[in-house]
Amino acid sequence: MSVSTKTIFALALAAALLAVAPLCSGCRQQTQAADMPARVELPDVARALEEGMAAHSPWRAVDRTALATSLGWGQVSSGNKGARRIALTFDAGADAGATAQVLDELEAAGLECTFFVTGQFALSNPGLLARMYADGHELGNHSWSHPKFTGVSAPEVASQIERTEQIVHELTGMTTKPYFRFPYGAGSSSLVKQINGLGYMGVLWTFDTLDSLGANAAAIRGRVSAHAAPGAIVLMHCSSAEEAKALPLVIDDLRAAGYDLVTLTQVLQPPAAPGSS
Ligand SMILES: [Zn+2]
Repeated sequence: MSVSTKTIFALALAAALLAVAPLCSGCRQQTQAADMPARVELPDVARALEEGMAAHSPWRAVDRTALATSLGWGQVSSGNKGARRIALTFDAGADAGATAQVLDELEAAGLECTFFVTGQFALSNPGLLARMYADGHELGNHSWSHPKFTGVSAPEVASQIERTEQIVHELTGMTTKPYFRFPYGAGSSSLVKQINGLGYMGVLWTFDTLDSLGANAAAIRGRVSAHAAPGAIVLMHCSSAEEAKALPLVIDDLRAAGYDLVTLTQVLQPPAAPGSS
């Protein structure tokens, strides 16, 4: 997507969100009474936005709840191994870190990926959330404040997930359902059951680039090449500048090895049947 198209989408998104924001009757009357120039009908903008995004991002057309049901919910650590596809997934904790650079590299490569964001990240970085949406990325839920869920109460588990869903929805109009990644990957069978009941499947990873443990760009690149496999879900972090630096090389390596780089939704789907388009 060109920068100008992206800007239009971002502006249209902001307008559409404003259009659905509740106004008190006094405010509405004031707006109507004001001598304002003719404006674009906001519902039309919102519809055009959705149609444009759906055409640009095939994963948006997938019924993800049905996909999770077909996979039995639970928790996954890899996608469908029947096709040469890999999903790069990025966790965003409290700080913006190198998120803007990661987004730049993905945009330059023409990729749509999946970001697991915390509510605190969304609250602190609304502009980055809007850009993730406008760039066609998919969003998953990574809790509100990144606690180890094995040490928090059941009501707090629900609150951590629901508050994040709420702010992501307010900022982007998107849902994080049905994807949840436990902070530190720390879950349990009873926690997985609980999040399944909240409308989320657990999403772990096939391998970790170890960027959050200080791996440099060369080590990250080497690790991805060594572990790449059909259906892999790769764990990366927005906080790592080395990750952002490695990204264009990693993308080139994987493409040269014949992999399609796709969103989580796409890597979880069965491959298209022969003969279908
Ligand atoms: Zn995390």
